[in-house]
Amino acid sequence: MLALFKNIKDRRTLLCLSAAAILWGGLNLPVSAAVARPTIQPVMSSGDPASASKEAQWSGRRQLYEQMSAATGIPWFRFAAIDQYERTLAKKGASGQPVSTRLTAIKIPAPVWAGPLNPDQGDTSPNSISFFDGFGSDGSGDGIADPENDADVLYSMARHLLKYGQSASDFSIGVWEYYHNGRASQRITQFAKLYEHFGRLDLSGNAFPLPLSNLYSYRSTWGTGRSWGGARIHEGTDLFAPQGVPVRSTCFGLVETKGWNRYGGWRIGIRDIENRYHYYAHLSGYNKTISRGDIVTPGEIIGWVGSSGYGNPGTQGKFPPHLHFGIYRDRGITEWAFDPFPLLKQWENQEYRDLKNKRSKKSAVN
Ligand SMILES: [Zn+2]
Repeated sequence: MLALFKNIKDRRTLLCLSAAAILWGGLNLPVSAAVARPTIQPVMSSGDPASASKEAQWSGRRQLYEQMSAATGIPWFRFAAIDQYERTLAKKGASGQPVSTRLTAIKIPAPVWAGPLNPDQGDTSPNSISFFDGFGSDGSGDGIADPENDADVLYSMARHLLKYGQSASDFSIGVWEYYHNGRASQRITQFAKLYEHFGRLDLSGNAFPLPLSNLYSYRSTWGTGRSWGGARIHEGTDLFAPQGVPVRSTCFGLVETKGWNRYGGWRIGIRDIENRYHYYAHLSGYNKTISRGDIVTPGEIIGWVGSSGYGNPGTQGKFPPHLHFGIYRDRGITEWAFDPFPLLKQWENQEYRDLKNKRSKKSAVN
């Protein structure tokens, strides 16, 4: 079958046809219907409206990715990864902007969409965009290449990616060629891995980094000078606990960093799907089964509380044992630390509530 497509142009033509066929004929389910569906889907009867609308959004997005995947052969989780990457960047300064009705967050700049030399930077004609070597094409079948249309955007992205091939490494190259940013390709590769592993878009849910007990204590220490964290200002929260208390992953995520750091000691860094980097320092040791690139779930033991750091590899005991926990948010070019204390409190309270609910259910059964 592959031999039939000697060059990309042939393959593209075929893709155009198959995309149109699948999106408009084969499935009998126009993309516009899929886009509109989440808003009219009945929401779950219990729970808060915010989470219900999140569910609807996830299911709408998933449908869109699956349709594009059927049309282009690109797995749904790669569309999801690019979309999620742009979504995590778009959060910054979003207030005051009109609420978008789009399902996806991928924004393609006008000169890229229309072509840098295109005199009409708002061009939506697939033919003239193609003439000016623009990125935009029509994925929804209405004859218009609209950068605000989810199907058009995903389909244009798919056409770009397919120039490089279908494998995971081809995907990384395609992403790199689009963003020209190593951080972007790393994140998108990580997100694709997470989505593929769990097979779903909902990767919310957290755990407190230490097992609930009366063994630990912590308070808000954001920005104080007194620190064993490894930063000049204290970028995190110190949770004091005896040596050897288990340290658990706070999120669904991917182990990005593991090893010795002069200040952090034995430390581990985990990237979550919100593009946040969860940082755990001064460990006495690691869970030996966890390596860089591994996927972890909330509550999974990643190591143990210790007092490592502030010296050469193996240095311990220069300060009382504690877990230094920090969270950094990736903004595309730089990472910013933010105060993890409110989140820690929230996760701890949530776990206490869940535990209480479990106990009351148990006693109701007995
Ligand atoms: Zn600290």
